[in-house]
Amino acid sequence: MNPFDTHEVRNTVAPFENINLYAADPALQEALLREGGAEAAESLHALGAQLGRAEVLDLARLANLHSPRLHNFDRSGQRVDEVEFHPAWHSLMTLLIENGAHASPWLGGPGAQVARAARYMLFGQLENGSQCPVTMTYACVPALRQAPKIAAKWLPKILSTQYDPRSLPVEQKRGAIIGMGMTEKQGGSDVRSNTTRAEPLLPAEARAMFGDEGEDVYRIVGHKWFFSAPQSDAHLILAQTDDAGSAGLSCFFLPRYLPDGGRNQIRVQRLKDKLGNRSNASSEVEFTGAYGWLIGKPGRGIPTILEMGSHTRLDCVLGSAGAMRAALTHALHHARGRSAFGRPLSEQPLMQNVLADLALESEAATAFGIRLARCFDEGDDPAQALLARILTPAGKYWICKRGPAFGAEAMEVIGGSGYVEDGPLARLYRELPVNSIWEGSGNVMCLDLLRAFGKTPAARAALAAELALAGESDADYARYTQALLADLEQPQSDEFGARVLAERVVLAVQAGLLLRHAPAYVSSAFVASRLAREPGGAFGRLPAGVDCAAILARALVE
Ligand SMILES: Cc1cc2nc3c(=O)[nH]c(=O)nc-3n(C[C@H](O)[C@H](O)[C@H](O)COP(=O)(O)OP(=O)(O)OC[C@H]3O[C@@H](n4cnc5c(N)ncnc54)[C@H](O)[C@@H]3O)c2cc1C
Repeated sequence: MNPFDTHEVRNTVAPFENINLYAADPALQEALLREGGAEAAESLHALGAQLGRAEVLDLARLANLHSPRLHNFDRSGQRVDEVEFHPAWHSLMTLLIENGAHASPWLGGPGAQVARAARYMLFGQLENGSQCPVTMTYACVPALRQAPKIAAKWLPKILSTQYDPRSLPVEQKRGAIIGMGMTEKQGGSDVRSNTTRAEPLLPAEARAMFGDEGEDVYRIVGHKWFFSAPQSDAHLILAQTDDAGSAGLSCFFLPRYLPDGGRNQIRVQRLKDKLGNRSNASSEVEFTGAYGWLIGKPGRGIPTILEMGSHTRLDCVLGSAGAMRAALTHALHHARGRSAFGRPLSEQPLMQNVLADLALESEAATAFGIRLARCFDEGDDPAQALLARILTPAGKYWICKRGPAFGAEAMEVIGGSGYVEDGPLARLYRELPVNSIWEGSGNVMCLDLLRAFGKTPAARAALAAELALAGESDADYARYTQALLADLEQPQSDEFGARVLAERVVLAVQAGLLLRHAPAYVSSAFVASRLAREPGGAFGRLPAGVDCAAILARALVE
């Protein structure tokens, strides 16, 4: 040894990479098979291997390190409003779109939503900013189908599995992505406060400008305070209309390029400087006489865009489940390789308690997310549609709410090295709050759940039927679900207690799924820690007797 060597590097852990993210996750594999996605198992296996490769995982670091830049003008002073991305962003988008994360369920096939959900969860372990435009593109399809002419022109490009980032009129592109704009400065949750206005063009004027496409065209003036993915080929937005006696918010399709090939008047004011999600461009825009095409009926913009919202909220659940899974795997891998006080961290009882608690949370989120996706596959069945109606807001609240605490705990497992930017935990931690904020923040989701129970009494029966599938053999589960269902017999109007209700609904469904499908050492620990006693604020509070070694062996197959 060189006498000037300061130290020998030992007891450090190789990065968690070059691993098949799907094969490493029995809970996800089992959920896919039982919820109807078996046909996709092989392709998910291949995707898991691809996404776990070191150079692919590194795309996430690069895309977030080199955030997008806005160029308002070209070199000759022409307004262009173009966003420049690092090549890593384009690689991520290519991966997502080639794998159908933006559209595959709309092409049909059994279990298509479930298969996509599993894929989306795997992508959630890779990078989260690029999931935003992909989710919006996926979610816009049901709304766009309400406008057959626009759908005929655009859906072939939206459903295409070719990522085409070029800034061109849609006719010249191989694929298109779509964004959405509701939030304004004075109100995001309360979209009724939108001040953006839309005035219909006279039919003759619209035909003169846009020929065959000159139907239901409006001139839009106003702004959006959050307008993610401004590079999208079109956005769906809300604006106030007051025509033909149908005052209120209407939904519009705003293409980036107009049918005559000119640019639409969408001025990108600036890009947001965000806590996380830094790979993704989120902008502020002004519409200075943009042209928009009406989607759905005038004055019915909220129900139209809410259809989109139910799909984006599903993705918030899946994205958070994926990001939590990523945090868990990095933490567990580290704890297996790192020793303190003479023993690997993963074998120290208190650390086992923390890790097993995280693993239970992650498995429950996975089971819930994939089960919820099956509700979307089976939406023609009224019971499944009702279940989706309540589990979407409840899950969006509770699972996304668990994310930041989960990320912080996983970071702490890695200690100081978890807190620095060398590894992925700092990025994941910054990422986790956003799913709780956008697409309807936590409180708004809980109030939506109250509304759903209030407006559709059959929702309680749909929940009861789902919970009954787990039987009554577990006494704590039986007690918990009976109390929940008894409370739901009363009219639900308690805004003050709505968070507790949402949490109870999700915990009950998660416990039922685990009791039916997971090994007993998982389900009994989940019920004992979440249903049989008041949950506390921190992870690592599992009661004595839990088989942590078995839970951890299942949580990550390396
Ligand atoms: C990174 C990022 C990207 C985004 N991209 C887009 C986008 O592309 N398009 C888009 O339209 N929006 C986008 N948003 C905006 C997002 O959807 C809104 O921020 C969100 O809906 C909340 O609206 P707000 O910010 O106006 O908050 P507010 O509506 O002011 O709400 C503030 C808080 O009050 C709570 N609250 C509201 N009403 C009630 C009530 N009745 N009772 C109790 N609590 C209540 C909310 O839950 C929230 O916690 C994005 C946001 C972020 C962070």
